[in-house]
Amino acid sequence: QTSNIKTVNPYNNELVKEFVPMTDIELAAIIDKADKAFASWKNQSFEERAKVMHKVASLMRERKEELGKLATLEMGKLISESIYEVELSADIFDYYADKAAELLADKPLEVKNGEAFISYEPIGTILSIQPWNFPYYQITRSAASNLMAGNTMVLKHASNVPQCAQLMEDLFIEAGLPDGVYNNIFIPGKEIKSLVSNPKIKAVSLTGSELAGTSIASAAGAKAKKVTLELGGSDPFIVLDDVDIDLAVKTAVDGRMWNAGQVCVSPKRVIVPEKMKAAFLGKVKDVFATLKVGDPMDKETNVAPLSTEAAANDVIAQINKAAQQNATIVLGGKRMDRKGAFVEPTIITDITSEMDAFHKEIFGPVFMLYSYKDIDEAISIANATKFGLGGTVFGNNIKKAVEVARKIDTGMVYINHVTGIAPELPFGGTKNSGFGREQAPMGIYEFVNEKLIRTT
Ligand code: NDP
Repeated sequence: QTSNIKTVNPYNNELVKEFVPMTDIELAAIIDKADKAFASWKNQSFEERAKVMHKVASLMRERKEELGKLATLEMGKLISESIYEVELSADIFDYYADKAAELLADKPLEVKNGEAFISYEPIGTILSIQPWNFPYYQITRSAASNLMAGNTMVLKHASNVPQCAQLMEDLFIEAGLPDGVYNNIFIPGKEIKSLVSNPKIKAVSLTGSELAGTSIASAAGAKAKKVTLELGGSDPFIVLDDVDIDLAVKTAVDGRMWNAGQVCVSPKRVIVPEKMKAAFLGKVKDVFATLKVGDPMDKETNVAPLSTEAAANDVIAQINKAAQQNATIVLGGKRMDRKGAFVEPTIITDITSEMDAFHKEIFGPVFMLYSYKDIDEAISIANATKFGLGGTVFGNNIKKAVEVARKIDTGMVYINHVTGIAPELPFGGTKNSGFGREQAPMGIYEFVNEKLIRTT
């Protein structure tokens, strides 16, 4: 039996390991188990839950090299980025382990007579559907808050990272998580919708494409179940005219090459003052000349292969479309002449609103440069997208940069930094980038019942 659930090393496209999808009966049994486990997990104290989460964090740190190598093997990211991701994930487990009791303590409300307070209660089993681009972090940001809140989880990871998915379940068990509280499932993406209507699934969280997100949200909506969605992004990176241009160029290029451009909050549209455009482009080309594309296990490499052969071909099709529609391909634009899912680091300019490249997210090492005459035009280009995830304003005058940041229609804007990730900061978007937040205090309130208890 062939399956899409497999490890294929994108560095050389070799099949490493294949997994059999679970049957409907097996999946139903796992959901039953998660539902049963909820009955006791919800009554465990925060201290007991925190002990397990801290243990997961310490296991991840101890084994970061091994975990890192596995992520690089399965989806091709640079080994340094894989190890950083493992450490970040450990920090997120620690964050919620330390904070959950305080965040979910009863919250008194001011009332005219008697007493009223909010009791934060877990809601049951959450179905979490996650993508491959951050194999551990994506699981973590969904699991750490939910497990600390007392929910149980069924996690469907992307089909190209099955070993990372399985390893996370193994780590939870090794850390002492009771059986059934966290459950990895193997099922193709297009079949997952059928699980949403299972009455034992109480809510759904998805990170991925718009197509997957809207399909899952409609299935959940039909059953009145809550959903959070983190979909794609087309983050603007606005450069103000008072910047240190070298620093702005380096930050934008590094940001765009991060994870070979396969990051929802990568700076996908760099928007510079018209009078700076030629100099900026020249410097971008200089930095591109220093990029070393190659083996992601090699610490010297700074541009990795894409996650799969299909992903590389999709990016090439998007670049070709941009060229056909008269954008200028300044550099790159082709598959590399070697084995593996490699795409040349690419620079595109002269993109207009009639072109697909203006509207669609390109999930690859493709640097797109725009220019503006005045700041209103910069903001209007930044907002001329259906996406609204993150963004950057780069400038020396912080007050002015913050003013610009307020006018950008996204869920996150960073000044002088690409959109980042930290346990204590929320992550999420607006418009077609989805809704709901993960991480930070707000992440833990998405899937709890904020129950009013009133005495008079
Ligand atoms: P997908 O949406 O296809 O995959 C993400 C997850 O959703 C995977 O677990 C996948 O499973 C599952 N899935 C796929 N199809 C469906 C479906 N119809 N219903 C429910 N779940 C489904 O993303 P891709 O990997 O194809 O990436 C494509 C685009 O997604 C990117 O170009 C980017 O725009 C966006 N994306 C956004 C991310 C973010 O962080 N916001 C992260 C990754 C991607 P399976 O692997 O089995 O198909």
